[in-house]
Amino acid sequence: MTVARPDEVRRFNRSSLLRLLHTGGPATRAALAVELGLNRSTIKMLVDGLAEAGLVQEKVPRQARGAGRPSLLVLPQPQAAVVLAVYVQAEHAGIALVGFGGQILGRNSWNLHGRQRDPDEVITHVAESAAMLAGDLGLHPVAAGVSVPGVVRRNDGLVHNAANLSWGEVALGERMTAVLNVPVTVGNDAEFGALAEHLRGAGRGGGDAVFVSADVGVGGGLIAQGSLLRGSAGYLGEIGHMTVRPGGRVCHCGNEGCWETEVGDAALCRALGLPEHVPRGAIVAELRALQEDCAELGEYLDWLTLGLVNVVNILGPELIVLGDLFTALPDAAVTRVREQVRRRSMVSRALGGVRIEKSRLGADLKLLGAAEAAFEGVLGVL
Ligand SMILES: [Zn+2]
Repeated sequence: MTVARPDEVRRFNRSSLLRLLHTGGPATRAALAVELGLNRSTIKMLVDGLAEAGLVQEKVPRQARGAGRPSLLVLPQPQAAVVLAVYVQAEHAGIALVGFGGQILGRNSWNLHGRQRDPDEVITHVAESAAMLAGDLGLHPVAAGVSVPGVVRRNDGLVHNAANLSWGEVALGERMTAVLNVPVTVGNDAEFGALAEHLRGAGRGGGDAVFVSADVGVGGGLIAQGSLLRGSAGYLGEIGHMTVRPGGRVCHCGNEGCWETEVGDAALCRALGLPEHVPRGAIVAELRALQEDCAELGEYLDWLTLGLVNVVNILGPELIVLGDLFTALPDAAVTRVREQVRRRSMVSRALGGVRIEKSRLGADLKLLGAAEAAFEGVLGVL
């Protein structure tokens, strides 16, 4: 058995405390001690160390003033450690500076049309926009996370393929690192979405979860035993390309009958009687107009159910979070899918049902996910 050295124990405790403050927000010293299973003197020493480094401030909780010896409230200082979050999707791109504790301190976004979607243009625009934002706010990001709708190699952020951007074999991690001058983590947008849901959304404090998002394509991200599942090279979670319909529609991946062709945005357009590829706003408006009547979506919901039954039977998650375009589905439709999955999946029945919920992180989900990917490498070394 290896015995950990005192400095290793201290470093481990410090990074556990930083993670807890980052995702949980302000807490009293007493609550932090309980949560981490540490005694009061150890917590005091650790918090003093963080305060000295400017990462936290302490104050007397308001309701406890004058009530004997209250436990001090420890507040993360967002500007003490800042990362750059970047997202690129088919129609637009954006950046944000996100502080320790998860607060968005400033942001900028722009539309992508034609040539602006070229990797060279995107990389240049991100670098210029980030420098301007950092200058305006007087902040210096220490790492960056970049979310892209594509298949990304984990170790170097190579975008093997991002069909909706018409990108293939783009060395995005390497090139972003060169222009931003900080460590860069590039990942698939659904994977980073799963990370954001796990740390800040519906999956917070929970167990295994699957995040399924529909935009132009359908992607998935998996949380297993508290962390993002990344496969051997980072290529996983392509649940949109499960074959569900032999002889079905041709998919851009080269296969036919992929789940994405039955539940992606084009399928939703067909279900709603809209021309395929109308702007997203038109699809959302049409879904809102349905209110709670989901008869029109009948077959679409059957395909959604079928894919989710497979996902639940293979992975046995506690929770499935539906993101992006799926969040515009009527609540009654989600209830129907949840009931059908329970009825048709033996794993769901054995588990007593799987929670299936819409994401509530809204439009910031991609930025929050990219920020958390960047913070993963930062919190252990602060
Ligand atoms: Zn496919």
